[in-house]
Amino acid sequence: MSEIKDALTKEYYKEPAPLLQDDSPFSSMMERFRHASEILDLDEGMFKYLSTPEKVVIVANPIIMDDGRIEVFEGYRVIHNSILGPSKGGIRYAEDVHLDEVKALAAWMTWKCACVNVPFGGAKGGVRVNPKKLSQHELERLTRRYTSNMSDVFGPERDIPAPDMNTNEQTMAWIMDTYSMKSKRNETAVVTGKPIILGGSKGRREATGRGVITTALAAMNKLRISPSDATIVVQGFGNVGSVSAQLIYEQGAKVIAISDVSGGYFNKEGIDIPAAIHYSQTNNYSLEGFSGAEPISNKELLELECDVLIPAAKEDQINKENAPRIKARIIAEGANGPVTANADSILEEKRIMVVPDILANAGGVTVSYFEWVQDRHGYFWTEERVNRRLNRMMREAFDNLFMVSEKYSITLRQAAYVYAIDKVATTLKLRGIYA
Ligand code: NAD
Repeated sequence: MSEIKDALTKEYYKEPAPLLQDDSPFSSMMERFRHASEILDLDEGMFKYLSTPEKVVIVANPIIMDDGRIEVFEGYRVIHNSILGPSKGGIRYAEDVHLDEVKALAAWMTWKCACVNVPFGGAKGGVRVNPKKLSQHELERLTRRYTSNMSDVFGPERDIPAPDMNTNEQTMAWIMDTYSMKSKRNETAVVTGKPIILGGSKGRREATGRGVITTALAAMNKLRISPSDATIVVQGFGNVGSVSAQLIYEQGAKVIAISDVSGGYFNKEGIDIPAAIHYSQTNNYSLEGFSGAEPISNKELLELECDVLIPAAKEDQINKENAPRIKARIIAEGANGPVTANADSILEEKRIMVVPDILANAGGVTVSYFEWVQDRHGYFWTEERVNRRLNRMMREAFDNLFMVSEKYSITLRQAAYVYAIDKVATTLKLRGIYA
């Protein structure tokens, strides 16, 4: 293992970012990639191919600040792989964006799209900037310059960005407009996560939480847990956590604990989720002071006895330290990387079924794919159609990965990586290497 890690460190991550070291979500992802490659008996050349990003673009984005000064912000776009289709992945704005981190996140997108059969490759972008220090006009100029610099990289048939940390619908609208101005026609399909009025899709906001619940219900079905008898714990009450809590509540399940950055809230009789959502929305998106439950710590919340635990806040929440005390029967990963690689085997020994992030939270990228399809057709679907197709794709992906896990006697997580890697490798073998 260390040999491959060393090789990867040398070849792929020339200078590892702090986030890529030790037990970070990115090294966990690479560890799982390596393990799946072993199960598949992938040859060395293919391993090298899949470990290396296809394209890495670094650009300087000079802009004139509101006070007349020139500032320069470095921007990145990494295309990890586009063998299955145009590459797809978010753009984040953050001061600590690191190229190695962007490379790892781009690879993550390749596996995520492949494992749910979305016909996209994987990419990620970033700009090294603290967006809170820029005015709205400065942010617009930065976004337009970054888009202009990337105009040979982006494209509806080439590479399709989406929002990520500190970027939003408005950022996507500016990218779409800049790209359209340069190509002298409206190119709505160049980005997803746009405002609905500009060609965004209905159902996108709820899509990730909806996918989490579709796959969690499929897992419950395998363990013969009926939603109306089930107890649920949700960590994080933002977009993914609150939508997941609401949808499982609507299925008749008892959500016994929820949490956000202000702490955890526990009620063994079940929390009134619509009331909690209303409270949070009218309290500056915080559950602080919510009276429908008693306060507990986030640490205690993760260790509660329940049927389904949905970590939907941040990475590295379940690790080798607390994994032995987890009492859930199913963990459905709403967040990216909430379970570290060295907690996997502990959970496996405890026979806890983990629905891995690259499957469970792929509802967002699936509806992004629907947005791209609708933009290219110029015909927009009802929310009911979006949700129905999303449920079908997520359910099929779950059933497919469950079959792979049974075939190789491996966990669902290993199955997701095995399936995704095999799909990309098989496609490459058919297409061959262009020379
Ligand atoms: P968000 O910002 O809307 O919500 C995050 C929530 O987590 C907030 O309620 C916040 O208070 C809470 N939180 C932060 N730190 C916490 C802590 N230490 N303990 C408990 N709660 C804490 O973010 P989101 O869009 O819901 O994303 C959540 C996770 O899901 C992230 O890992 C994100 O990468 C992942 N994800 C999101 C999407 C999407 O479409 N939004 C898609 C795929 C993956």
